[in-house]
Amino acid sequence: LLAAEQGTYAAANPRSRALYEEATNLFGHVPMTWMNVWSGGFPLYLDHARGARITDVDGHTYADFALGDTGAMAGHSPEPTRKAVAGRAGDRGGLTTMLPTADAQWVGAELTARFGMPLWSFTLSATDANRWAIRLARLATGRPKVLVFGYSYHGSVDEAFALAGPDGTTISRPGNVAPPVPVGLTTRAAVWNDLASVETALAHGDVAAILTEPALTNIGIVLPEPGFMEGLRTLATRYGALLMIDETHTFSTGWGGATRAWGLEPDIFVIGKSIGGGIPCGTYGLSEAVAAAVTRHTDAGDADIVDVGGVGGTLAGNALSLAAMRATLGEVLTPEAFEGMIDLATVFSAGVQAAIDEFELPWSIAQLGARAEYRFTSPAPRTGEESAAAADDELDAYMHLAMCNRGILMTPFHNMALMCPDTDAADVERHTEVFREVVAALRA
Ligand code: PLP
Repeated sequence: LLAAEQGTYAAANPRSRALYEEATNLFGHVPMTWMNVWSGGFPLYLDHARGARITDVDGHTYADFALGDTGAMAGHSPEPTRKAVAGRAGDRGGLTTMLPTADAQWVGAELTARFGMPLWSFTLSATDANRWAIRLARLATGRPKVLVFGYSYHGSVDEAFALAGPDGTTISRPGNVAPPVPVGLTTRAAVWNDLASVETALAHGDVAAILTEPALTNIGIVLPEPGFMEGLRTLATRYGALLMIDETHTFSTGWGGATRAWGLEPDIFVIGKSIGGGIPCGTYGLSEAVAAAVTRHTDAGDADIVDVGGVGGTLAGNALSLAAMRATLGEVLTPEAFEGMIDLATVFSAGVQAAIDEFELPWSIAQLGARAEYRFTSPAPRTGEESAAAADDELDAYMHLAMCNRGILMTPFHNMALMCPDTDAADVERHTEVFREVVAALRA
């Protein structure tokens, strides 16, 4: 089946193929080629994208449920964001000045209203935000290590490419490219949904922060069991570590992310991607106590949040990304938009579940607000390790490519569908129909 779908794809996309061959001859390595693992060798090339639609250079238009792996959760080029960016990039000017703009106040206040942290700093990506926040956690606690969960992902953050190894050791995750030092020097790894493994790691007394998402989202969605997130809060406090929550993906849970929906109490909060409506951005928020612990006083007695020694950047918090965040948060990712997106994800989940039941597939689906994801195993995996073991690369490739050939794009690496404010009921209906058709072919 996969080979047949690859043949269809190759025949339908000659322009994309030609561009890819040209780029490969020029550069050797071409970025943004995640589609290659299932397409049989070349990615689709983008022509244009608007709202919930992407059009490629061969003229096919797709209902986009990948949405830039959440970077376009606000839809492609939403009107308010486009206008704000055009204003700043056009007549107003001042793209990189290293001066603050008043947009930062508005965005900071909005982030506080949604996620509850009082103090915000801006970066260019979620990766940057995680790296800088880790440095501040080390500064605040005087401790060297970060606790992460096996098969979590927090961007290109060296500390986070770790797994719990045998006998309580922490080992480098396979595929980790050249860690600067053995990962056990910087990291302790624990197992998701296993508070005992967290407590064992924290008991060493050298963990500055637990870095976690509210649900694992990068090894399929693995939801927290009741009491797990609360347990992390309790254990962090008991062992003097900070709780650092990365909502870059789980923002799909609602207007204030899982933090607000589930009443979480992080010490440090990180988010990037979607909040800029597609413009590079990121931010981290600190609690009052963490901010006080990393504040130094100048000779004149003024308090200043430390912005030297590895945090901050020339383009961080630039006027363009702040204008984009203001417009996106203020006018696009509104409470009403979330309501509609979550309703559609619920309809999608029910449609997929109905097909799973009809064809008696041993699969499961997990929903996290506006996004839902099916896995080739049931019951749903409880840990990153179980989820990794349940992966089926060939089936994954077939599902992605069969959907793509029928006009539906899903997220890289996972069978995830994300809704944006422009996704409509017809897109969801079409997606669930195509899902049914594609799994029917599998069963035939
Ligand atoms: N945090 C989480 C949870 C992510 O899933 C990702 C990327 O997928 C990042 C951080 C890093 O985002 P970026 O690659 O935009 O820096």
